[in-house]
Amino acid sequence: MTRRHRKKWIRDIARQQIERLFELAEAISGVRPELSDRYIYLAKKIGMRHRVRIPAHLKRRMCKHCGKYLVPGRTCRVRLNRNRVVVTCLSCGKQIRYPYHGRNHPSNEKRE
Ligand SMILES: [Zn+2]
Repeated sequence: MTRRHRKKWIRDIARQQIERLFELAEAISGVRPELSDRYIYLAKKIGMRHRVRIPAHLKRRMCKHCGKYLVPGRTCRVRLNRNRVVVTCLSCGKQIRYPYHGRNHPSNEKRE
């Protein structure tokens, strides 16, 4: 096994761990929200350590300002504004905006 292969393998594991941590955060957010924050913090750390990008759909579930796990209606407010989604974090009050019909939208295959 070459070095390059091994590295790829490790990054695949890291990617899986990130997804798993977000799943755990989701599962526990109603009971122990502080644990959700901890899980996504760990996911972020794993992503940085292995230089793995956090998938766009998961990135939107965390506040880039304060690191909170975002649950629509509970820890964040989601509003549609023309062709943008505006997410307001109820913890730090800051907003995150992303395009509604963006190229990086996972469920949107064709561009407008
Ligand atoms: Zn925040």
